Amino acid sequence: MNKTIIVSNRLPLQVSIQDNSFKVVPSVGGLATGMKSVHAEGNGIWIGWSGIPENDLSPELSEEIDSKIRDAKCVSVPLTNEDIEEYYEGFSNRALWPLFHYFMEYSNFEQNEWEAYKRVNEKFAEVVIDNLEDGDTVWVHDYQLLLLPQLIKDKKPNTTIGFFLHIPFPSYEIFRTFPWREEILTGMLGADLLGFHTYDYERHFLSSVKRIMRLEVQFNEISYHDRIIKVDSFPMGIDYDKFHNAALEHGNDSEEKSDLRKRLEEHISEDKKLILSIDRMDYTKGIPNRIKAFEYFLDNYPEYKERVRLVMLAVPSRSNVPQYQKLKRETDELVGRINGKFATVSWTPIWYFYRSMPFNNLIDLYTSSDVALITPIRDGMNLVAKEYVATRTKGNGVLILSEMAGSSKEMNEALLINPNSHEDFAVSLKRALTMPLEEQQTRMKFLQKRLKRYDVEKWADEFLKSLEDTKNLKNQNV
Ligand code: UDP
Repeated sequence: MNKTIIVSNRLPLQVSIQDNSFKVVPSVGGLATGMKSVHAEGNGIWIGWSGIPENDLSPELSEEIDSKIRDAKCVSVPLTNEDIEEYYEGFSNRALWPLFHYFMEYSNFEQNEWEAYKRVNEKFAEVVIDNLEDGDTVWVHDYQLLLLPQLIKDKKPNTTIGFFLHIPFPSYEIFRTFPWREEILTGMLGADLLGFHTYDYERHFLSSVKRIMRLEVQFNEISYHDRIIKVDSFPMGIDYDKFHNAALEHGNDSEEKSDLRKRLEEHISEDKKLILSIDRMDYTKGIPNRIKAFEYFLDNYPEYKERVRLVMLAVPSRSNVPQYQKLKRETDELVGRINGKFATVSWTPIWYFYRSMPFNNLIDLYTSSDVALITPIRDGMNLVAKEYVATRTKGNGVLILSEMAGSSKEMNEALLINPNSHEDFAVSLKRALTMPLEEQQTRMKFLQKRLKRYDVEKWADEFLKSLEDTKNLKNQNV
C-alpha cells in the first residue's frame, strides 16, 4: 500500500535524556494535528530531526532512541551540533528567516552556512530515499528544506512531491537580493505542487520564477523540464474544536478556576478591560512597536489610565541568535519604562510574562481578554489570532490584527491595522474598547464560521487532494 512521507525540520516529538535513560513524548503542535489522519491514523511516516544532536549520544543510546522513535512511526535524520549551528541557527534563521520577513538588514549571508544548508538538505534526502517505495507521496515542509524537493526528484523522478512554505514568500525585489536565489528556486521546483498561505505569497513566488528562472508561467502553472508544476494557496487553519471545547470546559463559567484566571479576573469589571498579546519573542512580531504604540494610546486617551491592562505573553525563542537577545533586552527595558511612567499604587499598565504557558493557561488568557492585540510587522500566517476567535464561545471580544499577518486575508471582520502607525493603533484600540456587544458578536460569528469550516485537518486534506490531482495529471500525460 502506498504511503505518504511527511518531512519537516523537527519531528513531532520531544526526546528528553537523563543520565542514561530517555523518554520520547509526542508534541502536539498545529502541524501534527493537521497531519493526524495522514500520519497517526494512516500508514504514513514522518521524517525529521529528533532535537538531540548526534554528538551528545553514544552509538548504543542513539540506536535505542531511534528504535523508540520508529515505534512512533517517525524516522530521525542524524544531525550534529555543527549542522544545527550552521544550517538551522545559521542559514535558516540568520539568512532565510529575516529576508523572507523583509528584515533585509538582519540577513547575514555566510558561504560556510550555505554549504551546511546544502549538506543537511542532502542528509534529509538520503533518509527520505532510504524510506521511499514506488508510488509513495512526499510532503516537505518549510524554509529549512527548500532544496529537498529537487534532491528527491533527481534520484526518484517518479515520486509525487508536495512542498508547503509556512512563512511569507517575499516580493521579487527582496528575493532577488538573495545570493543563492537560483539554487533556492531550483530546489523548490522539484515539487509537483507548491503551497503557500496566501495568494500574495504565491504571486511573489511566481514572479520570481518568471524573472529569475525565465520560465513560462500560465495562471498558476509552471512549465519546467517537461513537467507542469502547480502553485496554489492553502491558508493553514487551527484545530478549532480543540480550542472551542477547551474554552467551553475551562472558560469563564467553569467552577474550578486556575490561579492565573483568578488574578486576571481581579482586573475585569464593567469599566476595566484586559488586552492580550501572545507571540514568540521574535523581531517579526512587532513587540517593541506594540509597547510604544500602547504608550501613545495612554498619552492620547488618558481616560483609559487605570482602566486597561495589557497582558503580554512573550515565549522565549532562538535565544542563541544575537538579534533575539537584543530584542529581549529592548522589550524588558521598554516594559520597565512604560510601567515606571504610568504605574500607580493600584495599577500596572503592562503585565509581562517571558515564558511559555501550559495549554489551560493559554485558554484562561484567551477567554479572559476583552481585546486581542496581534500586531506583527510581518507574519506568514499567525495562528494565535485564530485561536483567540475560536475560544470566544459567547461571541464577545474584539480582535485587532495587523494587515501584515497572512491570517488578515481571511479575517476581514477583525479590526485590521498597519502596525507601524501608532495613530491607527490607538484609534482602533479605542474603537475596540467601546465597540457595542452586538457588533462584537456579529463580527465574531462570521470569523468563527469560517475558521471552523476551514480547520487544520481540512487544510491538510485540501493540500493532499490537490497533490493527488497532479499525480493523475502526470499519469494522463504518460
Ligand atoms: N503557544 C504555545 N505556548 C505558549 C504560547 C503560544 O504553544 O505559551 C502556541 C500558540 O497556541 C500557537 C503557536 O504557539 O499555536 C504560535 O503560532 P503562530 O502561528 O501564532 O506563530 P509562530 O510562533 O508560528 O510564528
